[in-house]
Amino acid sequence: MIDAFVYAGSPARIIFGNGAVQSVGEWIAKSGCSRALVLSTPAQKADAAILAGRLGSAAAGVFSGAAMHTPVEVTQGALALVEELGADCIVSFGGGSTTGLGKAIAYRTDLHQIIVPTTYAGSEVTPILGQTENGVKTTVRDARILPEIVIYDPELTIGLPVAMTVTSGLNAMAHAAEALYAQDRNPISTLMAAEGLRALKDTLPRLVREPRDLGARGEALYGAWLCGTVLGAVGMALHHKLCHTLGGSFDTPHAETHAILLPHTVGFNAVAVPDRLKPLSDLFGTTPGAGLHDFAASIGAPTALKSLGLTEADLDRAAAIATQNPYWNPRPIDRDAIRALLQDAWEGARPKT
Ligand code: NAD
Repeated sequence: MIDAFVYAGSPARIIFGNGAVQSVGEWIAKSGCSRALVLSTPAQKADAAILAGRLGSAAAGVFSGAAMHTPVEVTQGALALVEELGADCIVSFGGGSTTGLGKAIAYRTDLHQIIVPTTYAGSEVTPILGQTENGVKTTVRDARILPEIVIYDPELTIGLPVAMTVTSGLNAMAHAAEALYAQDRNPISTLMAAEGLRALKDTLPRLVREPRDLGARGEALYGAWLCGTVLGAVGMALHHKLCHTLGGSFDTPHAETHAILLPHTVGFNAVAVPDRLKPLSDLFGTTPGAGLHDFAASIGAPTALKSLGLTEADLDRAAAIATQNPYWNPRPIDRDAIRALLQDAWEGARPKT
């Protein structure tokens, strides 16, 4: 039986293919723009400068100060440059941090965004912006935040280090896992989530063996697009709440936190909604939390929160914060249950369910 549902597609244009980065200039022009500000992190400054050089007069300049969790001070610096250069659109080249800066600018100016992702974070296809001010992270959802154009070029991910490939891929899989049991899921989001999970499950082990396998890179990026799309389309639950708590209050790194918690949150919820998690069970076995743990360990992902510098003493406070204002979750949560889940994740224990 098909349950009643509401479906709304995201009005973003997706351009996918090897060498697609060559079309950035064409898409700037098709958007009616002529002066792009190219964004990157400091680590990707040289690549952003090469892209800007290729764009010629269509690039107004480069801002390479993007940082994790989109600090408002950084956004203000970039906005000043937008103004100074008279930029009329944004080209974000990089991972979720760079995409976040582009979204923060668009949220305030409604400038057109062209995103060129180089990780599997999935932020480029969501209308969600997380930003930090005075150490507090807040999240906004707004139509101005959704990027208009996303150019996926698998060749740009060839150099993504193996460790980041693995954690970023598991970060994407976490979006899809939670989409399977989202309250507002629909048949399209479930199809996309299941296919995104399959694509990443197939390709991450291949990329650990051969990081330069362009075919696997393409399929992984395709999976990341699907996983990001469902993140933008339906509500997330316990897993994302715990990751936001640990990232926001304990400054744990984003993708690694997702990678470590995923087997535990899936195992916790699998008990309550085994039918909804069937696509995961088909891929990872009838105890999908345990199956995901084995999969993550086999591709060299970190499996214990203690490896991220979190102390055992932090777990009480983390459980308290995460259960203060909980997101909807398919299995009821309480502080003791979440404290126990965090203990297992801290130790790197294999979930039983
Ligand atoms: P990131 O963007 O912080 O990138 C990590 C580092 O890797 C950076 O130094 C970056 O320059 C570098 N890098 C990126 N691609 C590379 C490549 N191909 N080769 C070599 N180095 C590369 O990491 P991320 O995990 O992509 O993004 C995390 C951020 O994205 C967090 O702030 C998170 O909150 C946000 N995010 C937001 C959403 C959303 O919908 N709002 C979704 C997912 C993630």
